[in-house]
Amino acid sequence: DEAKQAYTDRNPASLAHHQAATGAMPGGNTRTVLYYDPFPITFARGAGARLWDIDGHEYVDFLGEFTAGIAGHSHPAIRRAVEKAMDSGISLGGHNTFEPRFAALVQQRFPSMELVRFTNSGTEANMLAISTAIACTGRKKVLVFRNGYHGAVFMFSPGANINAPFDYIYGSYNDIAATQAEIEANAADLAAVILEPMLGGGGCISAELPFLQMLRDTTAKHGIVLIFDEVMTSRLSPGGLQAVLGITPDLTTLGKYIGGGMSFGAFGGRADLMARFDPRSPNALPHAGTFNNNVLTMSAGIAALTEVYTPEAANALNAMGEDLRSRLNAVAERHGVAMQFTGRGSMLAVHMTRTPIRSPADAAKGNAKTRDLFFFDLQKAGNWIARRGMMVLSLPLTPADIDSLVDAVEEFATSRAHLL
Ligand code: PLP
Repeated sequence: DEAKQAYTDRNPASLAHHQAATGAMPGGNTRTVLYYDPFPITFARGAGARLWDIDGHEYVDFLGEFTAGIAGHSHPAIRRAVEKAMDSGISLGGHNTFEPRFAALVQQRFPSMELVRFTNSGTEANMLAISTAIACTGRKKVLVFRNGYHGAVFMFSPGANINAPFDYIYGSYNDIAATQAEIEANAADLAAVILEPMLGGGGCISAELPFLQMLRDTTAKHGIVLIFDEVMTSRLSPGGLQAVLGITPDLTTLGKYIGGGMSFGAFGGRADLMARFDPRSPNALPHAGTFNNNVLTMSAGIAALTEVYTPEAANALNAMGEDLRSRLNAVAERHGVAMQFTGRGSMLAVHMTRTPIRSPADAAKGNAKTRDLFFFDLQKAGNWIARRGMMVLSLPLTPADIDSLVDAVEEFATSRAHLL
């Protein structure tokens, strides 16, 4: 309560802005994830890895737009690409020269995506991938994982949701026996299994290799389409998490940074499945979408993959994340506090518990109050992270920024030790 009061006192312009926004949007909000109590701050601008709010505070951006902002704010190569596209008109109502180049780049990065199609968001990509599996198998059920997140209408955490009305059954993340039994029992009706190979918003919990191998083997045995949602995890190596793990899904969905920070989504995979969308084939599946090939995204995406998030840049950013995570865990251990940092590469999450985190149930044991305090304390010290404790690195962050985050966490562990 004390931290929230101090927060309110420090952010009068954001408070007024929030109150005014409630007149036109429910709770002043159009992206649920951005709301937090007592009110979210409003940003005025960003540059590189820095953000400024409308009360004039400066932050180091350790959220990176929930993984979409890998280039940082106003990266010159992305700006150039967007300006170049704008110079020739925005929505052309026909094919443009950017889209096949961008598709070929995506295909090169993610070889399991033998053919690819673009959408406007990760949510839409997942909608299309699941629909593809249903159309191609003639089956109706979709196995999802509790605490998986695949977009606004694919949210499987506890609480109210407005999910797309597919026929869901549930597996347990990293529970081989229970999930395999669920798949076997429903095999004849199961069109797809969809999962994030590391839960992102669900707390940066990695899927274990034997679990993924079981999923690969069992789905292959029954002709079930295995979909990897790599909307977030595609940043974890030049070829996504599937390249690191050596597991090839039937379909992959992408989003976030690959569009250079513009609205983006893509789905693709096995040529025999994706060929169903070939408009020249009899009974071709339809997939229109006014903005699927919008030139701003196509052009920014080409720049993102060729000039910004090159394979070298991907490896360096993920190494920076590994180093940061081990330093933060070392702080927690040195102070003997109930705090740990999970994740992989450039994606991290804090959990206020000593229990090792292998599943969403383990993560639920974390102390939500001290995690809130972590957010407010870090923010006060000038670090912008997700309210739920997720941290995501972007390319303009410097070693000095990383040091200052470690210092802020050290200060938190010291000053709040009695609560942890
Ligand atoms: N899938 C995952 C794993 C995500 O984290 C997200 C967004 O956070 C989505 C899908 C949805 O993407 P979008 O917000 O672009 O619809």
